[in-house]
Amino acid sequence: MAARRLTAEGLREWFTTVVRHTASDRRAPHKPLVLLDALARVSRGDARLTRFGDIEQHLSSLLARFGAPGASSHRPQYAFYRLRNDHGGRLWELEPADLRRHENASGDVPLSALRGASGGFPADVHALLAGDLALLNGLTSVLLEEFAESLRPEILDAIELHWTPLVAPRRPRSGSFREDVLRSYGRRCCVCEFDGRLGADDEFALEAAHIVWHAYGGRDEVPNGLALCTFHHKAFDRGALSIGDDLRLLVSEDLSGANTALWLRNFAGRPLVLPRRTDHHPRLEHLRWHRREVFRAGRDQPA
Ligand SMILES: [Zn+2]
Repeated sequence: MAARRLTAEGLREWFTTVVRHTASDRRAPHKPLVLLDALARVSRGDARLTRFGDIEQHLSSLLARFGAPGASSHRPQYAFYRLRNDHGGRLWELEPADLRRHENASGDVPLSALRGASGGFPADVHALLAGDLALLNGLTSVLLEEFAESLRPEILDAIELHWTPLVAPRRPRSGSFREDVLRSYGRRCCVCEFDGRLGADDEFALEAAHIVWHAYGGRDEVPNGLALCTFHHKAFDRGALSIGDDLRLLVSEDLSGANTALWLRNFAGRPLVLPRRTDHHPRLEHLRWHRREVFRAGRDQPA
């Protein structure tokens, strides 16, 4: 039987299932990042297949910056290879085709074999994407859902992909989350207490952050939220900052730079500025998820 002809809708469905992981709250950014980078290459008109050896460093650096903490999770080879198993091999192609003879018991091939191999979208997928920039844009949205919103512009910069948010998020979001969180926290950053306004009430650079991200089941409710200034929001989502079970601030030991004290280092160990209502305080299970999946504690600390 001939394979069904590939459509834009079919491709969207494939991408959605690649990033969906409802069974686990562990982060799985590898395939989304490999696919985002591949989409960026299509948009630039690069060759359809790319040697893994040529982009290994680039992919590792993306995983180090935007993936889960822990050095072992920065390895891109598994995703680059295993994508061939998704959707009957119709989403990702590897060359040479007989690469599989190097496979070990866990279904991976040694790095030495993979470095000489090339991967990318099969010809029909590539043609569909190259001819339909709106589709490419929409699939980018699907993959970006994997990451906290504040990280998305940085990811797009790093892979040099232009993107316009056209597609509505998969999950409807609660309209009042931002307002509920800001009100509960007294309209100031819970780290630095920034509460700047222009004039009487023109608030700026104050945001409601999610502790557990949407892609991992994080809900739009105050105990999963924090009021943070724009800077501390970014630091929290990138894992430079987290919160202990004692509701005191943790600062990554990997932080470097000559002028970080005022903005970050001085806050280590300080208590959060919390809502009066204790049922609005961050839930400990959410904080634990953030420490495990986002916080870059540092080389000597458990992730
Ligand atoms: Zn702040």
